[in-house]
Amino acid sequence: MHNKRGDDKRVISSEPTLRIIMRGLRDIMSESGDAQSRLNKIVHQIAGVMVTEVCSIYLKRKDGSLELFATQGLNPDSVHKTRMKRGEGLVGRAAEFNITVNESEASQHPAFSYRPETGEAPYHSLLAVPIQRSGQSLGVLVVQNHAARVYSEEDVEVLESTAMVVAENLVSGLVAGGGPDLEISDSLSGVVKGESISDGIALGHVVLHEPRIVVHKLMADDPVAELERLETAITELRRSLDELLAHDHLSGAGEHRDVLDAYRMFAHDSGWERRLREAVQGGLTADAAVERVLNVTRSRMLRQGDPFWHERQRDFDDLSDRLLRTLAGRGIDGGRSEELPPDTILVARTMGPAELLDYDRHKLRGLVIEDGSGQSHVAVVAKALGIAGVGQAIGIVDRVSSGDAVIVDAEAGQVHLRPSQDVVAAYSDKVRFRARRQKRYGALRDQPARTKDGQDIALHINAGLLVDMPHLQESGADGVGLFRTELLFMLSQTFPRPKQQRNAYRAVLKQAQGKPVVFRALDIGGDKALPYIRQVKEDNPAIGWRGIRMSLDREGMFRSQARAFLQAASGDDLYVMIPMVSDVSEIDRAREFLEKEHDFLTRHGLGTPKSVHIGAMIEVPSLLFALDELLEKVEFVSIGSNDLMQFLFAADRTNARVASRYDSLSMVPLRVLKTLVDATNKHKVPLTLCGEMAGRPLEAMVLIALGFRSLSMAPASVGPIKEMIISLDAADAAQEINTMMSQGRTNLRQAITDYAKAMGVVI
Ligand code: PEP
Ligand code: MG
Repeated sequence: MHNKRGDDKRVISSEPTLRIIMRGLRDIMSESGDAQSRLNKIVHQIAGVMVTEVCSIYLKRKDGSLELFATQGLNPDSVHKTRMKRGEGLVGRAAEFNITVNESEASQHPAFSYRPETGEAPYHSLLAVPIQRSGQSLGVLVVQNHAARVYSEEDVEVLESTAMVVAENLVSGLVAGGGPDLEISDSLSGVVKGESISDGIALGHVVLHEPRIVVHKLMADDPVAELERLETAITELRRSLDELLAHDHLSGAGEHRDVLDAYRMFAHDSGWERRLREAVQGGLTADAAVERVLNVTRSRMLRQGDPFWHERQRDFDDLSDRLLRTLAGRGIDGGRSEELPPDTILVARTMGPAELLDYDRHKLRGLVIEDGSGQSHVAVVAKALGIAGVGQAIGIVDRVSSGDAVIVDAEAGQVHLRPSQDVVAAYSDKVRFRARRQKRYGALRDQPARTKDGQDIALHINAGLLVDMPHLQESGADGVGLFRTELLFMLSQTFPRPKQQRNAYRAVLKQAQGKPVVFRALDIGGDKALPYIRQVKEDNPAIGWRGIRMSLDREGMFRSQARAFLQAASGDDLYVMIPMVSDVSEIDRAREFLEKEHDFLTRHGLGTPKSVHIGAMIEVPSLLFALDELLEKVEFVSIGSNDLMQFLFAADRTNARVASRYDSLSMVPLRVLKTLVDATNKHKVPLTLCGEMAGRPLEAMVLIALGFRSLSMAPASVGPIKEMIISLDAADAAQEINTMMSQGRTNLRQAITDYAKAMGVVI
C-alpha cells in the first residue's frame, strides 16, 4: 500500500496519519526490546506511514553536535558514526535554532552538508523537526524522499507531533537509554547556575511553587470528546481570566494587571485556538495539543533575539499552564495545600516574601527562583528562615518536576538536578564540613568580638519571626539590631489585633532575656505586601506608599502598633526604629503618635517602658543633607544599606540585572558611609548598619575601618563576622582604606581584598 516513490499518495485510510503513527509508537513502547531496537522500529514505522524513503533520528550531544542514532533508509553502518558539528547542515540548523526545516531541494540549500557515508545522495527533499522538550532541543527527527516532495502543512504537523512523543519517551528513558554525553541526560541530571541569595547547602526534593502539569497521555481515545474537553477548558480559562481582571485588587501577590491583560490577549487569540483544535483533530489529547502548540510557539518566540518576546513567551508558558491545569481539573493557584516533603526545595519563577512565608517552614530546606537578587525581601526572609537560596536560576522551572531530587548549593550559586550518587556523596561531605565550621563558630560564641588592636564591635542579629529568637543566644550576639515586624504581619491572615501584637512583641522581649531589641515599625509596601491591606497598584512601589509614609497616613494602624510596643516593653527599655524616613518631620510625627499612646497608657494607669528610644533608619539619600537636624531629633540611627544603595544608585534591589551593577565597596557609598560616621560621632548618636552588607566579612571589615562599632546581620553571619573581627587590626585597616579613598583608587574592592589577604584577615 505504501508508495515508495514518495509521490503524494498516502496510506489509503480515513484515519489521520498522526493517529496511526501514535498507535504504532504505543505498540512499540509496550513491546519488549532494547533501546536501539525500539528506536529502529520507530523510524521504520514513521517512514512507512508518512511514505518517506528515509526516516532518521539524530540526538544532540552536550557539545552541541548531533549523532545519527537510528535510520530507516540511510546506510545502517553510519548509525553512531555520522556526527554533525553544532549547527552544521540543515539538520544541525533544526537542532540549533529549534526550527522546522522543510526543503524540497535540500542539496541546493546553502547550508546543506553532504555526508557520503550515509548514502543520502539520491534524496532530494528533506523535512527536519527538532525533538524538543520544555523548549530544550534534544535532537532532530528527519524524513527524506527521492522525489522533490513538497511536504504539506499536515506532514509538518504530523512530524512535529511525533517528535514530541519521541522526546517524551526519550526523557522517560524508554527509548535510547541516554548516555552521559547526550543532551537528554541533562534532562535527567544537570547543573543550573545562578547566584546565591541565602547561604547554605540543601539536599531535598522539588516542590514547584506553581506546579506545572506534565502531560503523559498524548493520544486521544475519543477525538470528538477530546475536542469538547478542549473547548470547555478554553471557555473556563477565559472566564477565570475575566474574573481575575475584574477583581484585580484581590488577585494573588505578583499578579499584576498588565500580565493579566497579556494573558487575556493570548487566551482570546483565534490563531491559538485554531492550532489547538487542529492538533486535537490530528489525534492528540487536548493536554498534548496544548503542549505541542506551546513548543512550536515557544521556539518561534525564542528565535526572536528581542527580550520583549522572551517575556511574552513566559506569559504564554503561564497561560498554557493555566489551560493544562484547567484541563486537569485543578485550581490555578499552586500546590501550597499539597503535602510537603520534609526536605522541600521550593522552585519558582518568582516569589514574594509573603508567599514564601505561606509554606510550612519546618519542611523548607531550600529555595530556587528564576529571578531575585540577594537584597530582595524574599532573600531576606530565606536568610531569616535559614534556608539555602539560589536566584537567577534561569530556566529551572521548565527543567524540573515536583518530587525530583535536587541539591541547592548556595555557596557556589548552583543547583544540581537529579544528582548522581557521586554528587550526593560529595555534597554530604560538604554538609559535614559546614557543620564542622559551624562548630568552630559556636566555639567563638562567648568570645568578645574584639579586634587585634582592642576595638570592641557590637554584633546584633536581624530577626522578624519568633523562630529567629533562639539564634540570639546561640550566636552570642549582643541584641536584635533590627526586628522586622512586618514579617509577623505577613504570617497572619488578617490584620493582627492589638492584643495579638502586644503578645508577640512581649514574647520577643522575653526570649531576648534582657538583651536590647530594636523593633522596626511596619515597613509594608515595595515588595512586601499584606494580602488584607488593600493597596493601590503603584508603578514604582519601592519609592511609593511604603514604610513610615503609609504608617503616618494610616494613623490607626501605626498607633495600634505603637501602643503594642509600649505595653510589651512595660518596665523595660523600648527601642523603636522608623523605616523609610525621607524628611525629618516624619520623625516628629511618629514621635507625636508614640507620645500620645504613652500618655494614654499613663492616664489609664497601664504600664509603660522605663525608657523609650526612637531611631531613624537611614535608607533614603535625602537624609544625608539633613543630618544635623535629624541627629538632634533621634536617639539612634541605623543604616538600611539595602535600600540606601538602591536609592543612591537608582538601581532596583529586586532586579538582578541592576542590583549588583554598582558596588557597595566603591567610592561613592564609602564616602556616604564615612559622612554618616563623622556626623553621628559629632552628635554623639549611636550608629549601626543593618543591611545585608553588615553580614559580609569583607564589607564588614571596611565598615569597621570607616569607624562603625555596631553591626546587625542575619544570625548565620555572626560567626563569620566575629572570626573576621578577631583577625583584624582596625587602626591599620582604617589607615589603609582612608589612603585608598583619598587616592581616588578605582577598583577599591580588589584593592581591599588584596589588603585583607595580605594581612591574614579571615574574609
Ligand atoms: C535595608 O533596607 O537595608 C533594611 C535593613 O531594611 P529592609 O531590607 O527590610 O528593607
Ligand atoms: Mg529597608
